[in-house]
Amino acid sequence: MIEFSGVNKWFGPLHVLQDISLTVGKGEVVVVCGPSGSGKSTLIRCVNGLEPFEKGRLVVDGTDLSNRRALRALRMEVGFVFQSFNLYPHKTALENVTLAPIHVRGLSRAEAEARGRALLEKVGLGDRMGNYPHQLSGGQQQRVAIARSLCMQPKVMLFDEPTSALDPEMINEVLDVMVGLAREGMTMMVVTHEMGFARKVADRVIFMDHGAIVETAPPETFFTAPVHARTRDFLGKIL
Ligand code: ADP
Ligand code: MG
Repeated sequence: MIEFSGVNKWFGPLHVLQDISLTVGKGEVVVVCGPSGSGKSTLIRCVNGLEPFEKGRLVVDGTDLSNRRALRALRMEVGFVFQSFNLYPHKTALENVTLAPIHVRGLSRAEAEARGRALLEKVGLGDRMGNYPHQLSGGQQQRVAIARSLCMQPKVMLFDEPTSALDPEMINEVLDVMVGLAREGMTMMVVTHEMGFARKVADRVIFMDHGAIVETAPPETFFTAPVHARTRDFLGKIL
């Protein structure tokens, strides 16, 4: 579903992605961790074409991202959930969820609303559909943001620190939705330091440092027997 082959990217003199090669199969969940500034956001932003890169090849669901003309179609297939929920403040939860399916996918309002209602139910917000973002907690807003992405029926979901802006008591309600999605077979790349989530559902955990993938391992190995000193040092700081 996602294949990086020797991807390199620079921001001016900064070599922000160094020879990234990585394959994510259909239904796989890959957790990406690493220190601030190591290139995690840049890496996953490449997957939906938000970041161009200078060297290497990236193919997502059969689309080669060097083909910039194919990007618009590809973006519909790749959902992206950010740390800041970015909901439209003057739209209700249901309107937030149905806007793109109606205007980008071309669904009828009725179809989009049926799909949107089902998804809001699924993320536990069946009684909040008519609320505006300011009437919802951070955890509820992030669940609306997830439902909004899912309403486009993406083939891949990308998450960039989806719980970092939340109060601690709201983190689990968001992670639970993501665990459910992973168990249903969604292909996911998740930047997070929530290692409980990684242990539960990740097929692989990737540790990045200074723009490079330093270590890749299944969670059981990653947490108990990391090979690299930099990984051990990082885990020592966050666990
Ligand atoms: P992470 O998500 O791991 O914290 P990022 O991918 O956001 O790291 O950033 C990696 C590096 O690239 C950082 O040093 C950051 O300052 C730099 N960077 C990110 N975006 C830009 C940009 N648009 N222009 C220049 N430098 C950038
Ligand atoms: Mg980041």
